[in-house]
Amino acid sequence: MGPGTDTTLASAAQDECGFVQNVYGQRVSWKSRLPIRMFITAEAAPNEAVIRSAAQIWEEAAGMTLFDIVTEGDLTFEGSKDGRNGIYWNPQWSKSPNYQAITTLYWSGNQIIESDMAVNSKYYHFYIENPELTSDLHLRSLLIHEFGHVLGLKHRSALSTVMWPVLNAGTKRDVLTDADRKALKCEY
Ligand SMILES: [Zn+2]
Repeated sequence: MGPGTDTTLASAAQDECGFVQNVYGQRVSWKSRLPIRMFITAEAAPNEAVIRSAAQIWEEAAGMTLFDIVTEGDLTFEGSKDGRNGIYWNPQWSKSPNYQAITTLYWSGNQIIESDMAVNSKYYHFYIENPELTSDLHLRSLLIHEFGHVLGLKHRSALSTVMWPVLNAGTKRDVLTDADRKALKCEY
């Protein structure tokens, strides 16, 4: 969509389809700016294999390459709006302990221009296959949910979906449901 007045943009309001919408009611997504290059920071690097497999779940459903995940050695990032999409493990979590992770999106018009994923490694312990403690979170499930946010998907509570706001401890939620696939296809 080219430049337009508020009126013409407003007339282009779309079905939400599970996506974050801008003030004009348009879904925001990466549009043709794919794949999304994301940097894994040093603290997150030990989990690279799980990170990649979580991203792959969405790519298989989309039938295309959505992510270009790269590691950058010791480089650390600012996090918020620094022009890079980062995947962070944050051991100094200063937000609410209740948040398991936070993914932020920045967009212009209906185009996402940056996304950062921060995992709350201060208050949560994660597992790959079998939890050690009943409070442990299944990492792959958590990351699939966060990658959904990176793509522009928002929380959903009405349907069985990986975009439920909270991942229960000791629970795997690492398979996309029909609702998730259908939502994804609205933009990718
Ligand atoms: Zn979420």
